[in-house]
Amino acid sequence: SASIFAAVEMAPRDPILGLNEAFNADTRSEKVNLGVGVYYDDNGKIPLLGAVRAAEKARLEAQPPRGYQPIEGPAAYNGAVQNLLFGKDSALIANAQVVTVEALGGTGALKVGADYLKRLLPGATVYISDPSWENHRALFESAGFPVDTYAYYDAATRGVNFTGMKTSLEAAPAGSIIVLHACCHNPTGADLSDAQWNEVVDACRARGLVPFLDMAYQGFADGIDADAVAVRAFSASGLQFFVSSSFSKSFSLYGERVGALTIVTAGKDESARVLSQVKRVIRTNYSNPPIHGGAVVAAVLNSAELRQEWETELAGMRDRIRAMRTGLVDQLKAAGATQDFSFVAKQRGMFSYTGLSAAQVERLRAEFGIYAVSTGRICLAALNSKNIGYVAQAIAAVTKG
Ligand code: PLP
Repeated sequence: SASIFAAVEMAPRDPILGLNEAFNADTRSEKVNLGVGVYYDDNGKIPLLGAVRAAEKARLEAQPPRGYQPIEGPAAYNGAVQNLLFGKDSALIANAQVVTVEALGGTGALKVGADYLKRLLPGATVYISDPSWENHRALFESAGFPVDTYAYYDAATRGVNFTGMKTSLEAAPAGSIIVLHACCHNPTGADLSDAQWNEVVDACRARGLVPFLDMAYQGFADGIDADAVAVRAFSASGLQFFVSSSFSKSFSLYGERVGALTIVTAGKDESARVLSQVKRVIRTNYSNPPIHGGAVVAAVLNSAELRQEWETELAGMRDRIRAMRTGLVDQLKAAGATQDFSFVAKQRGMFSYTGLSAAQVERLRAEFGIYAVSTGRICLAALNSKNIGYVAQAIAAVTKG
């Protein structure tokens, strides 16, 4: 009899993975992959942070048993996450208005949040930024929501179309879920100002929208507290909201899958009930989180010494990305670029929407072995002191007249 898989169709390829495969197959020694979503150091390597190394060494020596964790993850981890998001003196924490569960990276946090929201608000529509991280749409659709977009990027200014964004938010039906990039917008690198965040808070309050902040890059723009400006603006608002956060980038722990879902409620009693429901979502999905990554992060964040080391290393990553931004602008100018690329230095986080067309991206690949996403998004953290000049010359060449 026929296989049950006989009629299965091939799912569409992930565009970034396809790009990586093509890059790996390229034999040119000067090749550069700007399509990645990972921080590389100046040697083109994913760093293993010193604070992480120290915490791992201590764990290995302690030889802890490997029992099951609580469904929501350990309190030492969840508390450390809350302190990073809200600041350790936050009234929300003191009032037990904050529910945090460990999750499998930022993606896992988004999915647990989406599955819970589907039970809480089954008829809601989800709005994501135009454009957004490519997994947002698929993830919320897979949780059963219709997904629409709100205006965000302005190609003319290479910044945020804030008027358009507000118009979109004001037109969203009450009870809609609004996914907001808390900092370091992926893919554009264009963030809201502090004042604009306050206007978004007002719009969410006025329309009865449910904010879901996605913070995958805390510490990559201006610093831990500065990058939490959106979270802090919502904290001060009295609204209920969701936050997904991730240590993939800030701890360089991509494959350990360390993140958290945090939900702000109206009070202690609500928090207990909400936590019980989120635990059901987790229990029926993967039961409880793995130990290692969260234990390492908690050990670092809860030790004054290791935390200081981590903050210094995080600042090092942030400063290197900034140096690559200004370096690219300077070297493009030096390479005779006819276009003004000064916007690259103003964008924030790991990415820049360069404005390169799909045809120009294709020329970069064919003529120079430089790989980027066809939207023109490049990862600044893939640049280093050895390849930046080559990349600048190539971009100057393909953008000239
Ligand atoms: N959200 C955004 C906006 C991202 O850019 C990413 C990672 O690229 C994630 C979430 C997911 O992060 P993680 O690897 O922790 O699942």
